[in-house]
Amino acid sequence: MTHPLRVAMLSVHGCPLARLGEKDAGGMNVYVRELSRALGQLGVGVDVYTRCVDQSTDPIVPLGSDARVIHIEAGGVRYVPKSGIYDLLPEFIGNLKSFAKTHDLHYDLVHGHYWLSGLVGLDLKSAWNVPLVQMFHTLGEVKNLVARRPNEMEGELRIDCERHIMAHADQLIAANADERAHMVWFYRADQDRIHEVPCGLDADLFRPLDRAACRARLGWQSDEQVVLFVGRIEPLKGIDILLRAVMYLVRCHDHPRLRAIIVGGDVSKDGDELQRLRALVQSLDLGAYVNFVGAQDQEVLPTYYTAADVCAMPSFHESFGMVAIEALSCGTPVVASRVGGLQYTIRDGETGFLVPRGDPVVLADRLCLLLSRPDLRDQMGQRAAGVAGIYDWQTIAQQILAVYQARPPDLRKTPF
Ligand code: UDP
Repeated sequence: MTHPLRVAMLSVHGCPLARLGEKDAGGMNVYVRELSRALGQLGVGVDVYTRCVDQSTDPIVPLGSDARVIHIEAGGVRYVPKSGIYDLLPEFIGNLKSFAKTHDLHYDLVHGHYWLSGLVGLDLKSAWNVPLVQMFHTLGEVKNLVARRPNEMEGELRIDCERHIMAHADQLIAANADERAHMVWFYRADQDRIHEVPCGLDADLFRPLDRAACRARLGWQSDEQVVLFVGRIEPLKGIDILLRAVMYLVRCHDHPRLRAIIVGGDVSKDGDELQRLRALVQSLDLGAYVNFVGAQDQEVLPTYYTAADVCAMPSFHESFGMVAIEALSCGTPVVASRVGGLQYTIRDGETGFLVPRGDPVVLADRLCLLLSRPDLRDQMGQRAAGVAGIYDWQTIAQQILAVYQARPPDLRKTPF
């Protein structure tokens, strides 16, 4: 009998146990947590290696059957933003290797998430002589394509590292055809090594609830028209575009009972983007219509999704955009930019609307249509709830397992 597969999952800056919606914690943390759990249930032994940021966290925390999180020290036990992690990688790699050696841990493959963990993966691939499966979650070249200010640009270092990882990883995972195309076009990645596997959804958590009860729980009035945003507060998410759309809805489309609820971010200490957004709310005189409610535990998000009339994702880019399928699965239509993964998860005109990125006028127009036509909103919501089955984590984990078991193509083959 062959022994069960053992995987070292690498998520240096994205602890699967982190509080979501704050700092750098979002979709990737959810992905690593849920995929590891689902693989564990399939009998794959998963150790998620992540950087330790909190003294009170146990070094090893179980994630479910056969999956656990292992905290590795590097650069002291404190939060370090993504931009400071690269310099800590040699220490992280050294400590990870000693941990594995001390505990006599052996793996059949390593699975890296994001370029920083990809670099760790390449080192472990050669040290342990195991294959590397890599997923990027976002790509520097694509971020630069949509950046609106110089400080949103990614440097050469990241892009060079991404190119290097793509050339040497055994298998690459893209969330959809769009991400695959970006890998091939911008980085000359080898098509044969790219597997398309979407992100998953916890359908037991994200399901339609009783709308009136959800509104009552959140203290929202029954006649309010609520547009919901959920996510990290960062420029790429285009929250400023949503605020401008809210202005059009209030001033031009006559929606006096409108409220935009922005879930995400740490409202106790405003970061740069939150400050910028609050200033915009003031200058557009929207104080009465916009609420920043801060990050919320994922367990309460179904209440927000169900209670809202519509969920808005005005992103400049999303590799996948888990919030879209969470909202849809709760029976709430999504109006989103026609970018990245959102083009595959939202059926334009059926479960929501796709709009040009960065265009508040069209966004306002589509939001207005859904807010003014409760019958259309309900029809779309009912169709939307049907997405749940497609993205079940067990199905996704099976697909990832198939990638783990795929025979690596010849790495010496020159791309193109
Ligand atoms: N999220 C959360 N609480 C918040 C904000 C976000 O739990 O206050 C979760 C949300 O449920 C989703 C993830 O964070 O699963 C965000 O994922 P998405 O792919 O939409 O965005 P990313 O963070 O990858 O850009």
